[in-house]
Amino acid sequence: MENGYGEPYCKHCGLTETEFKDSYYVGCPDCYKYLRNAVLEAVAETQGATRHTGRAPKTAPDNPELERLIREYERALVFNRMDDADRILYKIHALGGSIK
Ligand SMILES: [Zn+2]
Repeated sequence: MENGYGEPYCKHCGLTETEFKDSYYVGCPDCYKYLRNAVLEAVAETQGATRHTGRAPKTAPDNPELERLIREYERALVFNRMDDADRILYKIHALGGSIK
């Protein structure tokens, strides 16, 4: 999906890849579909930063349930199971976590 500027964007809510990369927040569930590459990139970046700096991630590191959900979420993204990803993200937020 590309807009007039040759940039991928969400056909549903109009969020562009640049906007997503600025905030790491999606505008709607369809963003995961249309901005999939950017979302996956963001996830990879977040993981890399956590590993390399040893900084505490935004999500509580001592919450195994949260860690499990985040891994599940990433897997859902990889397999393009957007309904699952949505549901899991909701649980992550409910536990006070974030994939930002
Ligand atoms: Zn959207």
